[in-house]
Amino acid sequence: MTRGFLHSAVMATGLAVSLLATGAAHADTYPSRPITLIVPFAAGGPTDVVARAIGASMQKTLKQTIVIENKVGAGGTIAAAVVAKAQPDGYTFLIHHNGMATAPSLYRKLSYNPLTDFEYVSQVVDVPMTLIGRKDLPAKDFKELLVFLKTKGSAVNLAHAGLGAVSHLCGMQLRQAVGAEMTTIPYQGTAPAMAALLAGQVDVLCDQTTQTTGQIKAGAVKLYGVTTPTRLPTLPDTPTLAEQGLAGFKVVVWHGIYAPKHTPKVAIDAFGQALRAALKDPVVVQRMTELGAVIPSDDRLTPAGLQSWLTEEVHRYGPLIKSAGQFAD
Ligand code: ASP
Repeated sequence: MTRGFLHSAVMATGLAVSLLATGAAHADTYPSRPITLIVPFAAGGPTDVVARAIGASMQKTLKQTIVIENKVGAGGTIAAAVVAKAQPDGYTFLIHHNGMATAPSLYRKLSYNPLTDFEYVSQVVDVPMTLIGRKDLPAKDFKELLVFLKTKGSAVNLAHAGLGAVSHLCGMQLRQAVGAEMTTIPYQGTAPAMAALLAGQVDVLCDQTTQTTGQIKAGAVKLYGVTTPTRLPTLPDTPTLAEQGLAGFKVVVWHGIYAPKHTPKVAIDAFGQALRAALKDPVVVQRMTELGAVIPSDDRLTPAGLQSWLTEEVHRYGPLIKSAGQFAD
């Protein structure tokens, strides 16, 4: 595979300077062929929606195709393992969410270390979550849902996108907060989990507004609350779970873009620059706003901003996961 990089007409002068500084310059163009952005969950789900929206815009800056590849399974750890071992040539990147931080506490045999095996590009967007239920669930509101959860115990099925997925974390937090049993049913992403909920095969799902907003507005699911500390502009009449008695209940999804360790800086910089441009693209901004996603402050849209955030999150999730006692091999 091509490993060399020379400055191209496409790249900014700053990139050319950093290229010379690293001594990695051997080709005339970066990127000179399509770039793969790996999504660790099923197509059509929240992570996929974000990846496709930013990818479409980033192509304009990079003047190359970004191929979105869904490598699903095991709460996103399969995709992360693939990227950790991919050629560090600047043509493979990973978009992942909080799952990057939960995996080390959750998986006994993780083949990669999120804190040492990747280069960091940038954070992407923050996305709130909603607690929803199948349309014909008897509980009309959160108060009734609590009664339903307690009475039905393990007969209640909570769908999630795999161990370590944010829907799983939200479910674990809910279980702890309300002391309900609930059986958790893993899927390979929110898209299939949502399909199961719409088909009435499972009872509840806690997932990102990027996936649930459309179904909520169409009346296809019941909505019980939002997981943010304050109400959402897109769903202003919906109370937070904290407001409804679960003090301090908060799950917000953050995303990061990673590359295999030793990916040349010129590629990290170019990909990051294209991402930052995409997050200012009015088409992307409008789409993200409609879906309830929030673009973070500029300091988070850098390699250092992702690295420090991830490190804090790895240490924050450890105790929660340990106390929930959910581990996987
Ligand atoms: N929303 C999913 C999760 O719970 C992942 C996805 O399908 O994007 O982690």
